[in-house]
Amino acid sequence: MVLTQIDAPGHEGVWRIEDTKSGLLGLIAIHSTQLGPAAGGVRMRPYDSVDDALEDALRLSQGMTLKNAAAGLPLGGGKAVIIGDPTRDKTPGLLQAFGRAVARLDGRYWTAEDMGMTPSDMAEIASETRCVAGLEQGRHASGDPSPVTARGIFNAIRAVARHRLGSDDLSGRTVSVQGLGNVGWNLCVFLHEQGARLVVSDIDPARTARAEAEFDARVVVGDAIFDVEADIFAPCAIGGILDADRIDRLRVKAVAGGANNQLATAEDGHRLHRRGILYAPDFVANGGGIINVATEILRIDARETWVADKLAALDATMDRILRAAKARDVSPHHVAEAIVADVLQQDAA
Ligand code: NAD
Repeated sequence: MVLTQIDAPGHEGVWRIEDTKSGLLGLIAIHSTQLGPAAGGVRMRPYDSVDDALEDALRLSQGMTLKNAAAGLPLGGGKAVIIGDPTRDKTPGLLQAFGRAVARLDGRYWTAEDMGMTPSDMAEIASETRCVAGLEQGRHASGDPSPVTARGIFNAIRAVARHRLGSDDLSGRTVSVQGLGNVGWNLCVFLHEQGARLVVSDIDPARTARAEAEFDARVVVGDAIFDVEADIFAPCAIGGILDADRIDRLRVKAVAGGANNQLATAEDGHRLHRRGILYAPDFVANGGGIINVATEILRIDARETWVADKLAALDATMDRILRAAKARDVSPHHVAEAIVADVLQQDAA
């Protein structure tokens, strides 16, 4: 396994990982360790190129700095990506080689699950490094973070409903959900329990068929999710989906979902605001997962109470952001960024 540091302005360190024996090609990006060790999951995707993977790693690790600070965690921002198809290319050898790369960073980066990764993959990585969370076994094991992520997003949906629709009662409200994976599915369970009507899309037809059967969801195919008339849109698949064209197409009053980096550019936050669509900043809405993961990194004993307290604090932060955005007539995304900048500045002082 060869770990080579590469130049990436604005980041504390970025490394390319290559292991010819297992076929591992990936990157670890540390954006900031100002608040603590950089923490953020590892994502495995069949990226088209190393440049695409690098771009994703840089954006995601920066997003983790924002997310961890917004959640009040003593953790910095980092992320790893592995280039490959998780259903075909993921082997124990590849995961172990990745674990050796994490170990070489000597506690500066902690990894966990992201897209394409499971708790059993984390166990494989843990055979080579202690800096891995999201395990299923061990005194502080936190397991799959997705249910807590989904709980946080559900709270964010209620917050935007309260601010934009006048009530956080979701019964009879329509929520469109893009992506029915670990996060999207758990979110649909909560929404269905509350009597929300669901419109869903996923590139995997088996998942949409199941949602139709279990939640009486209406299924739309592909990009049609952006044209659905609904109260709230919850993006729970991939990032960069809210660009000028799609924002123009949206027929919803609010957006609150789990995907990282939903805005294609920072300007898209203003675009949503100008269209009167209330946007729950993604790095606040989806902070539940890292809160769950943090219990393992920080060795928290009273896990459940700690997670519940942090989720309640995150909910209060979201409420404060949405109130401030309304009072100042600005995009919540920019209020949230300013709040995080304050946290980092106060820490540096
Ligand atoms: P996942 O891989 O389990 O699920 C993603 C789902 O999206 C899959 O069902 C996939 O088929 C579907 N999908 C992919 N492209 C799509 C498209 N173009 N249209 C519709 N569906 C599409 O991933 P996950 O863990 O559920 O994560 C979802 C998002 O939430 C990601 O952006 C992830 O980074 C973010 N996130 C996850 C967590 C967590 O705890 N898992 C925490 C924070 C943020």
